[in-house]
Amino acid sequence: MPDLVLSDIRKDYGAVRAVDRVDLNFAHGELTALLGPSGCGKTTLLRMIAGLEDPSGGTIRLGDQDLTGTPAHKRKFGMVFQNFALFPHLNVADNVCYALTISGTPKAKARARAGELLEQVQLDGYGQRRIGELSGGQRQRVAIARALAQEPDVFLLDEPMSALDAKLREEMQVELRLLQQRLKITTIVVTHDQREAMTMADNIVVMSQGRCEQVGPPQEIYHKPANGFVASFIGRANFMSGRVRDGAVQVAGRTLTVDPAPKYLDGSAVTLALRPEKARLGDALPDGNRLPARVTFLRHVGATRDIHLDTPAGPLVVEQVSDRGGDLQIGSEVEVHLPPDAIHLFPAEAAAA
Ligand code: ATP
Repeated sequence: MPDLVLSDIRKDYGAVRAVDRVDLNFAHGELTALLGPSGCGKTTLLRMIAGLEDPSGGTIRLGDQDLTGTPAHKRKFGMVFQNFALFPHLNVADNVCYALTISGTPKAKARARAGELLEQVQLDGYGQRRIGELSGGQRQRVAIARALAQEPDVFLLDEPMSALDAKLREEMQVELRLLQQRLKITTIVVTHDQREAMTMADNIVVMSQGRCEQVGPPQEIYHKPANGFVASFIGRANFMSGRVRDGAVQVAGRTLTVDPAPKYLDGSAVTLALRPEKARLGDALPDGNRLPARVTFLRHVGATRDIHLDTPAGPLVVEQVSDRGGDLQIGSEVEVHLPPDAIHLFPAEAAAA
């Protein structure tokens, strides 16, 4: 199956630009998560891919096929949306093979296909059950099986886990990912939950205000955020203000080295971002890149603890394994080391903490 390619896709609702010049390539067999805060345009983008919404501009292609004006029912895309309405008067098997039956597939063949799919989603033997006799997670699996019945070219899901409780959601994320890998089906999942995106996706598209801020594998997005928005939206980050000076950065009157060296002009105002688990406290800290700090709060969260600090560069949170440096108390005077290669530097105006 060829790649799905979006070029310069836009959507305007009156004066609101919901999706702004999006170019994306969805490689065959990969799972991509569209991730971003509420209102950033994820659902609108997915609905345009599905054919449920017409773009105001741009094209959607599957290989050499231009799908931009093709209605949803002719796209051969499987969909599971937030409120996946199953047919309550039909049993599980009939729900799954509904689309096949109405498109003229012989009943026995449709039934066999439903059986296969129910096995895939671990509902083997549930075919005769009523929808009302299923748990939330089981209904979710029926919706997934139903969407896959016609062997779609592309599988689209909008917040598919939102109705499930936290534990079940995590289980379903793993299950869905394993199923998608077995079937090698190009899949796009809309979510506002970064853990969900990190668990399932080959690639994450981080969106904000209708635009793609960064596209890449989860680890790359986390470890190499393209800008301040991504650094603050994915995982946690400490932000500090500084100014580039002689190949280093001045922060609160101190010189911090960064690796790689700043690519901005001398005198530029910059924002520094640092993941809490990268900052270091304790004895035997490396020389340089240290700030004096005072502990303002300690928060124990199972295997790790957060140490809140007051520093000349502002407040900072350090995440440590809980059993390390257990003698800290609120009010303790310490030094914190900021490793040069863990500091991300952005132009000051582009960072949104
Ligand atoms: P959420 O996570 O809250 O579902 P989202 O990222 O999916 O948000 P969209 O639903 O795509 O965001 O909305 C993007 C923007 O477009 C928002 O400002 C929204 O108010 C606007 N919008 C969406 N649908 C319509 C519509 N039918 N008419 C007018 N504006 C709309």
